[in-house]
Amino acid sequence: MLLTHHPDKNGNASTTVNTIQEAYRVLVDPESREKYDESLRRSIQRQGFNISGDGLDIYSLDDFEMVEEEECRWIKDCPRCQFPKSIKFKESDLIENGTEDGENGYEIIVQCESCSLWIKVKYYEDNEEDDE
Ligand SMILES: [Zn+2]
Repeated sequence: MLLTHHPDKNGNASTTVNTIQEAYRVLVDPESREKYDESLRRSIQRQGFNISGDGLDIYSLDDFEMVEEEECRWIKDCPRCQFPKSIKFKESDLIENGTEDGENGYEIIVQCESCSLWIKVKYYEDNEEDDE
């Protein structure tokens, strides 16, 4: 990144260079990286994951189209604005942002990228014989 954005090769890229150096400084140090990850998690929560979700329509993973890439993703057309594939989430969202629903399952709140509709998705862990 530094090579392609270095000022010698690119007229006024000093801001970009500073950004890259800052990013490297944060990521190379485990402690500052942990702080950065934590701030990312908080910003995701501010976007609405883990809000209470009372009164939202409830869906299951079966209502979504599952796409298996390097990470599983679930995709759905919005039931309100009908915008194609505007509601989606990843397996890591389920793991990191899901909350227990009190009925042996989990739930996550996701938002339509087009009309901002919120829905609740319920799901269950794969390994149900696991007593934990
Ligand atoms: Zn929508």
